[in-house]
Amino acid sequence: MRTKKKPPERKRPGYFGRFGGRFVPETLSVPLEELARSFRRVAREKGFQRGLDTLLKTYAGRPTPLFFARRLTEYCGGARIWLKREDLLHTGAHKINNCLGQALLAERMGKRRIIAETGAGQHGVAAATAAALLGIECEVYMGEEDMARQEINVFRMEVLGARVIPVRTGSKTLKDACSEALRDWAASFASTYYLLGSTVGPDPYPRMVRDFQAVIGRETKRQFRSVAGRLPDFLVACVGGGSNSLGFFHPFRSDPVEFVGVEAGGAGLKSGRHAASIIRGRPGVLHGSYSYLLQDGGGQVQPTHSISAGLDYPGVGPEHSHYFASGRASYVSVTDRQAFDAALLLSRREGIIPALESAHAVAWSCRLARKLPKNRHIIICLSGRGDKDLETIRKERGGSLPNCVG
Ligand SMILES: *Cc1c(COP(=O)(O)O)cnc(C)c1O
Repeated sequence: MRTKKKPPERKRPGYFGRFGGRFVPETLSVPLEELARSFRRVAREKGFQRGLDTLLKTYAGRPTPLFFARRLTEYCGGARIWLKREDLLHTGAHKINNCLGQALLAERMGKRRIIAETGAGQHGVAAATAAALLGIECEVYMGEEDMARQEINVFRMEVLGARVIPVRTGSKTLKDACSEALRDWAASFASTYYLLGSTVGPDPYPRMVRDFQAVIGRETKRQFRSVAGRLPDFLVACVGGGSNSLGFFHPFRSDPVEFVGVEAGGAGLKSGRHAASIIRGRPGVLHGSYSYLLQDGGGQVQPTHSISAGLDYPGVGPEHSHYFASGRASYVSVTDRQAFDAALLLSRREGIIPALESAHAVAWSCRLARKLPKNRHIIICLSGRGDKDLETIRKERGGSLPNCVG
């Protein structure tokens, strides 16, 4: 469903500048409208917000600490580096913030079934967790290719009571799982809630997921003010679909704080094997919204690569496209190699094994810190923990690691 005439930018709901929108078949307009209405209602409801806050606190483990990385700061030299510890949350990453919010919304809307898409299985596990907590049936679409690569997460979802539905279309990966979930939803929305995993897809998902993740930035702002009595200078986060970064940035959007989004540079931008959707992409429509996208000359979506499964997606949330086009945030990329080294660096300097996704932000922050004076402050959103990546790290090093103290 394309809009024929473009109304003035600011007045278009669901748009961030010229990005976003609802490019979906007619059959999805009804459930998206119902979802937008319900979200608007609960956003104003004290009872809903209180219920969510209680779960975030007593179940997920919020607030997460803001930690001054003293030994990492000394190593990098220059600006002070802080970590917002989303890795300490239940299920090991920020994804649970969004899943608890949306699962509560599904319950409020009276839906008896939740469906979700997943790539590496991280979002599928968080969605299955939230569904189990609330006693709602859960089915997760996952590409067959990904299922083979992520057996443990498939099993984890099954242990949590969810059913994993193999997707055999297209490249049998995340983008195909996403398409299948949308197809299911178009036929089942009367009883089914579609729990999307990042700030992507048709409106209202990008703004809704961001709002559920904005708890990261709100806490960071309060915590940093109480220890430093001021605002930080830089916020740095990795960008896959964009949910940890946008949730982290959003509460600072009107403040004099610089935002840096770190994309997956994979084997290097020149190699063509990467997932740098903003830096190397062009605007186009994927999964119902208009945003930067890795595509070839004919508009075909390009295959992506990253050492970190969570960043391995050819698109990016439309709000990031707007931040990029308007210059509000800057975007950089970090290669597999650099992310890998940063993961080891953080492990040895601070005793924290980060997710390889988050390690991209660590790598860039260290380079940034070096160029800045000591009285500047950088906060990294440490989106997840590295337990899930140990096997990747082991394979990368052929089982041998330098036995040094970082
Ligand atoms: C999924 C994931 C990401 C990427 O997703 P965003 O929506 O961009 O936040 C980053 N870090 C971790 C640990 C993840 O699991």
